[in-house]
Amino acid sequence: MSSPEFSIIEEFFTPKHDQGLPPVVGIGDDCAVVDVPAQKQLAVSTDTLVEGVHFLPDSDPLLLGHKVLAVNLSDLAAMGATPAWFSLAITLPVLDKAWLSAFSQGLFTLAKRHSLQLIGGDTTRGPLSITVNIMGLLPKHQRLTRSGAKVGDGVYVSGTIGGAGLGLEKAKSDAFNAHDEDLLAYLKPNPRIDLGKQLLKLASSCIDISDGLSADLNHVLKLSGVGAKIYHDKLPLTDSVRQHADKIGDDLWPYSTGDDYELCFTVPERLDLSSMLDVTSHNITKIGVIEEGGGLRIKAKSGELIQLNKGFDHFNVE
Ligand code: ADP
Ligand code: MG
Repeated sequence: MSSPEFSIIEEFFTPKHDQGLPPVVGIGDDCAVVDVPAQKQLAVSTDTLVEGVHFLPDSDPLLLGHKVLAVNLSDLAAMGATPAWFSLAITLPVLDKAWLSAFSQGLFTLAKRHSLQLIGGDTTRGPLSITVNIMGLLPKHQRLTRSGAKVGDGVYVSGTIGGAGLGLEKAKSDAFNAHDEDLLAYLKPNPRIDLGKQLLKLASSCIDISDGLSADLNHVLKLSGVGAKIYHDKLPLTDSVRQHADKIGDDLWPYSTGDDYELCFTVPERLDLSSMLDVTSHNITKIGVIEEGGGLRIKAKSGELIQLNKGFDHFNVE
């Protein structure tokens, strides 16, 4: 390997140690080849981060390396899959070794934590954009989907909601503290892989919250042919998110902000979740119930029911 493209791959994108299931053929050939173990099936997903759209210009490369993998891992978590392999397509405006070194460190640190192996990719020049194609394994005939919610099921979320959205607001302003918990929620999401795997046998539906709770839960409701009622006072919010919503005079703000990468899932009423799962360590909160009649209704403090059907859409520019 001698051209700049190949030296980038060799120096920054060659796994230095085994990080999980080794591929049959890894980086260096025209395709990677993987063996899917007997009794398993493959879960595959792709997510792209574009500079100026998904992250701010001049973002810290270490955190970007983390985030591009985290958002893809979050999709595997939402299906209950165990991470196995990924490929990386990266478009770079310039060859900046310090940038690449930090990016690759952020990427491989998270990959190692989840025994995830880099098996190929593509390296091109142009406006900064990063795409990961991720592959995970599921037991044959098992998966979490968006389409299984049933009337009477409880609606749950992990973690807290809206922190990443507030973190984005803070990142856009000049005066931010690098240790701020909202900023970290935005820059360094923690994909809920372990929770997803445990939900495989418990949840009737699951989605990860990337575009906002309202938008993502609405996907579940539509595909499951049901509606939901959410009790606003049950929504897990940090003090800073609560204060922000108060300040802007919009209680519903946390439902429409994205990037939380928590899981939203439904569980049949007959299952006692707390006896089957450590709800405290997974930080799980029941926020509502699945009902007949489509759409999402928020039961406000006043008792009023508010219909909420919108979230973030890249092509909706109103
Ligand atoms: P091709 O021209 O056949 O698409 P490339 O010359 O682009 O192959 O890539 C050579 C090898 O390096 C391939 O195995 C490819 O998967 C791998 N590769 C390219 N870019 C990356 C990257 N950013 N990270 C990991 N592997 C990469
Ligand atoms: Mg190529």
